[in-house]
Amino acid sequence: MDIVDLRSDTVTLPSPKMREAIYRAELGDDVFSEDVTVNRLQQIAAEKLGMEAALYVASGTMGNLVSVLTHCGRGEEIILGDMSHIFLNEAGGISALGGVFPHTIPNQPDGTLKLSDIEGAIRDENIHFPRTRLLCLENTHNRCYGAPLTPEYTASAVALAKSRGLLVHLDGSRIFNASVALGVDPTQLTSGVDSVNFCLSKGLAAPVGSVICGSADFIARARRIRKMVGGGMRQAGIIAAAGIVALEGMVSRLAEDHENARIFADGIRNIPGLATDAGRVKTNIVYIDLLRDDFSDGEFIKRINANGLKLSHTGPGRFRAVTHYGIVKNDIERALTILRGVMQK
Ligand SMILES: *Cc1c(COP(=O)(O)O)cnc(C)c1O
Repeated sequence: MDIVDLRSDTVTLPSPKMREAIYRAELGDDVFSEDVTVNRLQQIAAEKLGMEAALYVASGTMGNLVSVLTHCGRGEEIILGDMSHIFLNEAGGISALGGVFPHTIPNQPDGTLKLSDIEGAIRDENIHFPRTRLLCLENTHNRCYGAPLTPEYTASAVALAKSRGLLVHLDGSRIFNASVALGVDPTQLTSGVDSVNFCLSKGLAAPVGSVICGSADFIARARRIRKMVGGGMRQAGIIAAAGIVALEGMVSRLAEDHENARIFADGIRNIPGLATDAGRVKTNIVYIDLLRDDFSDGEFIKRINANGLKLSHTGPGRFRAVTHYGIVKNDIERALTILRGVMQK
């Protein structure tokens, strides 16, 4: 049976063009900065995001970890959203490996952090307090229905951070979804930040990898931290080759994923026993709430799986669907038909 897999945009498989590029990739030892394919990917990434330099890393989690550890010393504090991926889903790495202290403030439904909350979280100079070093934003915001942060919001948060001497890291794992959804250049979403991380292996469909971008000095320091956490990969051009195809050829098609997500969310609204906040869907992420208590979350997943649909379970009564390369309108119709069938029982 064909499965409609909406658990994540990380399930995407490389395109035929990517496999071709992988086959032909020119390689070298990237720990010596001698892999021309990796160097090219880094150059393209830095240009697209309007930064001086870039560094290829194994994953988004590694990109965030290396960025935070490059910016912060042990015992220093970062301000981040209570729904942020760094706080919720990265195994506490910044604390476990870097001794960095997380100070969470509430994410608003649109993925932003209130400027007044940021202001309130910044510590004064006092021997009782950790030093506040860094503000982290997330765009698009995974847990907030894939909400894209606007250039205006980003600029206001960056201005506040700068005025108080803080650095800014942007977890831009899906930054290109944000730029496509808002119809703005990605450089408008990174303007003024000190580092940004984005994923090649999500909607852009490359098999492996993320890229960190920042100043040349930041990237030089990040390169040492990447080595420290075991992220120095040798002939990494073999996977970076697919990343180049992803950056050059897969960005504009994200609009199709966004449209499919909207169609899916509209369909969910008409299924009794399920709910979604369809008005919030602006990119490729939809959350679904199960309103029936006559079957458990586990039972719901079992039934949709048995009928050929996969969603991820993200909390009590809550499920996530993510549209991506490889999912077409027909798959969305089929997913809705499966859900209708399961909810009729
Ligand atoms: C997926 C994701 C990451 C981590 O990426 P991995 O490659 O899975 O480690 C970080 N931040 C956000 C917002 C993400 O969605």
